[in-house]
Amino acid sequence: MAHDYDLIVIGAGSGGVRAARVAANRGARVAIIEEYRVGGTCVIRGCVPKKLFVYASRFSDLFEIAGSFGWTTTAEFDWPTLVRNKDKEIARLEKAYVSGLESAGVEIIRDRAVVTGPNGVRIARDGRKLSARYLLVATGGHPHVPDIPGHELGFTSNEAFHLERLPHSVLIEGGGYVALEFATIFAGLGVDTTVIYRGRRILRSFDDDLRTGLEAAMQERGVKFIYETTIRALGKQGDEISVQFSDGVEAPFGGVMFATGRRANTRDLGLEQAGVTLTDRGAVEVDKYSQTSVPSIYAVGDVTGRVELTPVAIREGWYFAETVFNHNPMAVDHSLIGTAVFAEPEVATIGLTEAEAATHGDIDVYVARFRPMINTLSDSLQRMLLKLITAADGGKVLGVHVLGPGAAELIQMAAIPLGMGATKADFDRAMAMHPTAGEELVTFKAPSYRYRGGAKV
Ligand SMILES: Cc1cc2nc3c(=O)[nH]c(=O)nc-3n(C[C@H](O)[C@H](O)[C@H](O)COP(=O)(O)OP(=O)(O)OC[C@H]3O[C@@H](n4cnc5c(N)ncnc54)[C@H](O)[C@@H]3O)c2cc1C
Repeated sequence: MAHDYDLIVIGAGSGGVRAARVAANRGARVAIIEEYRVGGTCVIRGCVPKKLFVYASRFSDLFEIAGSFGWTTTAEFDWPTLVRNKDKEIARLEKAYVSGLESAGVEIIRDRAVVTGPNGVRIARDGRKLSARYLLVATGGHPHVPDIPGHELGFTSNEAFHLERLPHSVLIEGGGYVALEFATIFAGLGVDTTVIYRGRRILRSFDDDLRTGLEAAMQERGVKFIYETTIRALGKQGDEISVQFSDGVEAPFGGVMFATGRRANTRDLGLEQAGVTLTDRGAVEVDKYSQTSVPSIYAVGDVTGRVELTPVAIREGWYFAETVFNHNPMAVDHSLIGTAVFAEPEVATIGLTEAEAATHGDIDVYVARFRPMINTLSDSLQRMLLKLITAADGGKVLGVHVLGPGAAELIQMAAIPLGMGATKADFDRAMAMHPTAGEELVTFKAPSYRYRGGAKV
């Protein structure tokens, strides 16, 4: 049966755009359907605007230490200017995404799509039905908001990029990277910031030294933390939002943000009716080639709930197109993925944490803690931490963890030797570059401590 297209992609975000372009470059007739803005979460209301806001928030730290370098500064911050300039940049990027798709010959349909069967979709607005040999679900995810009384008074990362004005105080619920990055942003821009988290410590699954180090550094920057507590209800109290905590305490805040995780965009998408199996968290279940339980339907990116990061979605989209349209089966390796938290200070990590590595065998742990050079002339007490974890006695490097300026850039580079299976000797062979923070990673002499038989010695 002749189809309208070889491929219909639902969702023009990181994964969908890459898949559409690669498939079209391989000669496929491709349409991509997008209900909001081309570029998806990362470009429109995720990585990109977030990092621009983080940059904005870091100026306050620089102003603070500027005096010790001889500068006199008077600084004022204007939120609408930041939002306007960020919007301009996002519009520029969206245009670039559109022209990239168009020049590859991809047809862009700006609407919502619903899956009607193994090869069919319906366009929501005009009811048009389209068919394709393959469908790719790349619909991403959305912020999860707890179902509590008054939840509509709060906002999520989606709205945070367009607040009309900065609140004088903010309560952020969550302990993951979105919560901590926005705490960094708000605190740096002068907002009295509190993070509330149901767990015992922020950043579950990160190395413990990064977790405690980041918490301490953010506290020093004025961020308050409330642990093992949740928000039970929100109410309106004049211009303020009154917050009821699970421990019975009540307090007013200028704004409340939910950073309480994300859920896959699979609701009312017609997937189950088409025979696509979902996981118990509502994500699309896929095999290593991103194929769903329906052979003609594939899914990539956040909607599959594998690793919710842009470069992963992009790689999955690319490998899908390579597998299906170039007959070259390629499976993404999700095992060694570096990740960063663009908080202040920055945190980045790759490989095993100390706790994980210690259960895998005998290991050596090398730790450097010091004041980054930029702080040495000032009173700033902010310290940097670099940790290298290797198999015992100079074996394979198992994990690298960094807290401090440039952490993400360092870990991006460390990802190369780790992927190649580098040993401590390989790191040591690299000539140090001075004065840098990263030189610590190639000049460690004796381990700071070791684990033998699972015990720290
Ligand atoms: C605040 C925030 C900060 C982040 N920071 C980072 C970071 O620093 N680094 C990083 O790697 N990742 C970051 N991420 C995660 C990153 O944004 C996602 O992993 C990435 O965007 C996933 O890409 P995707 O293609 O799966 O989905 P998305 O980019 O979410 O794209 C999905 C698209 O599908 C559209 N859509 C959904 N349903 C339909 C439908 N039925 N019909 C038509 N269109 C539909 C949506 O409108 C959307 O445009 C961040 C996320 C957030 C929320």
